[in-house]
Order: sequence, then structure tokens, then C-alpha cells
Amino acid sequence: MQDIKNEEYVTCPRCEKEVYKDAITCPFCNFGIMAWLEGVINENGEPMKKSSKQKVY
Ligand SMILES: [Zn+2]
Repeated sequence: MQDIKNEEYVTCPRCEKEVYKDAITCPFCNFGIMAWLEGVINENGEPMKKSSKQKVY
């Protein structure tokens, strides 16, 4: 076990591997790391709805 406190890495919420923050997508599972960090998608890969658009079905 090693204590990882390197802030250049984040833990991918999908595969729980350490990936670079700068990675656009996770190299292991192709999760959208950049979009997730920016709050565009949540940890499930689903788009985060912003209040600017509302769809009524
Ligand atoms: Zn991943």
C-alpha cells in the first residue's frame, strides 16, 4: 500500500483506477474524466442537467 496524494491524479468513478486529471477520457474504461471534472456528467456518465434547459415530456 502506498499513500497516494498526488493531486495530478483522480480516481475514475467507474473503474476506480487512478488516471491523470488531464486525461480527457479514462484510458481503462473510456469514462469522460474531463467532462466529469467539469461537472458536465456525473459519476455514472449521465449528463448533469443545468437549469438553463428544461425539457417536458
Ligand atoms: Zn475508468
